[in-house]
Amino acid sequence: MTDLVLSESLAAARTRLAEALNATERPADAARLLAVSKTKPAAMIREAWHLGQREFGENYVQEALDKQAELTELDPIVWHFIGPLQSNKTREVAEHFSWVHSVDREKIARRLNDQRPEALGPLNICLQVNISEETSKSGVSLEALPALAEAILAMPALRLRGLMTIPAPAEGREAQRVPFARLREAFEALRERFPEAPLDTLSMGMSADLEAAVQEGATLVRLGTAIFGERNTR
Ligand SMILES: *Cc1c(COP(=O)(O)O)cnc(C)c1O
Repeated sequence: MTDLVLSESLAAARTRLAEALNATERPADAARLLAVSKTKPAAMIREAWHLGQREFGENYVQEALDKQAELTELDPIVWHFIGPLQSNKTREVAEHFSWVHSVDREKIARRLNDQRPEALGPLNICLQVNISEETSKSGVSLEALPALAEAILAMPALRLRGLMTIPAPAEGREAQRVPFARLREAFEALRERFPEAPLDTLSMGMSADLEAAVQEGATLVRLGTAIFGERNTR
């Protein structure tokens, strides 16, 4: 991928998002781009930042901390943790990220709540939902979602912002829309059930299915390959 021109791929990703929003008559600012930089060097994040990208998603705690340490001059920058989170890594995430998209159980949430430094303000949380109900995948089930949301809403150092999902791969727009529509319905049901909650985020859509996700109401699309090219091996 040495021939990737980041300015071009980032511009293309922005155009793609703008066109997807326009196609469903949603406002141009109704969804934003999260640049997923896992396996990519700090230098590429710096370059994207200088091109105006501010929000970055990382999946691996140590890799993210190493890059963050190299990029302290980039301000403002917003780090999202989007990978599977083990309890022995919650402290680093609570101390070094603004968002976590992959919370799917109360134990992890409680640790993040207890470990969040007060000076940083509340940690923004999306609950990862196992929408395709594959037993091997992480994510809370739709049945267990309201109880988990209620528990998290009572945690003062966390701010529950919405839902995230990684659906099973599907071919074609119509098939891709099905799980995203299901997540949107779950999101709307949560907003009705907890009208006081700051629920404003539907984190869904990746390089292969951005358009379907935007059509179903995504407010944050997570693009890796489309911006940074094929992932490096770790
Ligand atoms: C890697 C990753 C992405 C980006 O995937 P692409 O297909 O490269 O756009 C998005 N979300 C999560 C949770 C990821 O792990």
